[in-house]
Amino acid sequence: MADGEGAPSASASANAAGQDSGNKLVIVIVGAGLGGLLAAIGLALDGHRITILEQAASFGEVGAGMRIPPNCFKILRRWGVNTTYLKKTHSNGNRFVRYDNGALLADMPHGVPELDFGGSYLMVHRADYHTVLLERALELGVVIRAGNRVEDYDWDVPAAILQGGETVRGDLVVVADGAQSSARAEFQGHELPPTDTGDIVYRILIPAHELLSDPEMRDLISQPWVTSWCGPEAHVIGYPVRGGEVYNVVFCCSKTSMQDRPFQPGENKLVISDNSELLRRFAGWESRVQKLIALSGKDFLKWRLYDLDLVDNWVHRSGKAVLLGDAVHPMLPYMSSGAAMACEDAAVLRKMLSGTTRQSLAGRLHKYHALRQPRASKVQKAGRVLQEAYHLPDGEGQRERDIWITKDDEKNPIYWGHKERRDWLFGHDAEDIQVVE
Ligand SMILES: Cc1cc2nc3c(=O)[nH]c(=O)nc-3n(C[C@H](O)[C@H](O)[C@H](O)COP(=O)(O)OP(=O)(O)OC[C@H]3O[C@@H](n4cnc5c(N)ncnc54)[C@H](O)[C@@H]3O)c2cc1C
Repeated sequence: MADGEGAPSASASANAAGQDSGNKLVIVIVGAGLGGLLAAIGLALDGHRITILEQAASFGEVGAGMRIPPNCFKILRRWGVNTTYLKKTHSNGNRFVRYDNGALLADMPHGVPELDFGGSYLMVHRADYHTVLLERALELGVVIRAGNRVEDYDWDVPAAILQGGETVRGDLVVVADGAQSSARAEFQGHELPPTDTGDIVYRILIPAHELLSDPEMRDLISQPWVTSWCGPEAHVIGYPVRGGEVYNVVFCCSKTSMQDRPFQPGENKLVISDNSELLRRFAGWESRVQKLIALSGKDFLKWRLYDLDLVDNWVHRSGKAVLLGDAVHPMLPYMSSGAAMACEDAAVLRKMLSGTTRQSLAGRLHKYHALRQPRASKVQKAGRVLQEAYHLPDGEGQRERDIWITKDDEKNPIYWGHKERRDWLFGHDAEDIQVVE
């Protein structure tokens, strides 16, 4: 990790940027999550001088799995992110099963993502993914200042003001401070907290040997499927990560369906030290789910899930700051696309800033907003549709779902279960755009 010492300082070079460095900008990014790092990589590739300010003193992405869909993977590859040595599993696709007896509802293979969509579909550990992004950013000369919390902004400069008072100036501030963004309200001119979706998740990692030693569980880890158990007001989703070393499992349920009190007011994330509330909530689910709960061990994470539709202003009225990633489109994780949308944001922002000057900056930022908002909003809404489809109670709606889920038809409730939607989601190339003045 770089701490910024000896590296070009955003504060020092701000006034010179846009003049002596041609159309290269000095850019301050707030947040070194996946979105902030992706933006830094894309923009540094074009020679902009980037400083990231991150409040956390050290980097330790949450210990859980995630998926990198082809629409994101193709950008990572072009940008030289080293996925070769990243421990990964190529996803076969999705396997939907009944919650109470494990009966197969549908296999939904991805086909050959490289051929069909132009990129691989990976299942990885978030920390590993974060590390390769961090490495690529540092390689490109991005200055990453950990332990630097932004307390305030001066949007007209523009500048981020750190705890302690230091002012970090640039030509542009990219705010990637996550779903609970403190800056978002200032872009809108009113408070805009994310919406509580009513769902909570428990995220658990289980060492492979625990599953390999049990014939009933072995296929879960040895076959690269994403398995989804769908039940009333809840679903469980599991897949191997780290090349099959670990099984990632996420238990999702509506908070109203829990026997235990889900969260205290103001709490968003908790470390849980025993599995008793999971056992209570998922009583009656098939034996593999019971075994996964039994293997959950101690100290796993419980999260409250938020989203938000249609943030009106992605660009600050100063024309010198922009929102990116979860800060502007937090979404339910059910489309496995939140970080992929941040990656697409970064790709479009990069395109828009290519060849820009300080004079044309505001116009280009508005084009970024106009291009990105409809797609991000559509994916966010699709997550809500999946929430309903996954959590149907037994009955007519569930029986209908279980019929349509097997068909490549627009009535298939799974977004990527229909070819047209699948192509739209995974085949998209965010960099395939022309900048028209
Ligand atoms: C259960 C779950 C599963 C998911 N699975 C997938 C998946 O399979 N595929 C996928 O693409 N997406 C997935 N997502 C979504 C994905 O995790 C997010 O979309 C992504 O991490 C957002 O990145 P971000 O950088 O925008 O925000 P964050 O990761 O929240 O990063 C924000 C950063 O800003 C920093 N920060 C905040 N405030 C300040 C401040 N004032 N000063 C300095 N720094 C600050 C924070 O410390 C943090 O590092 C999942 C999400 C969940 C909850």
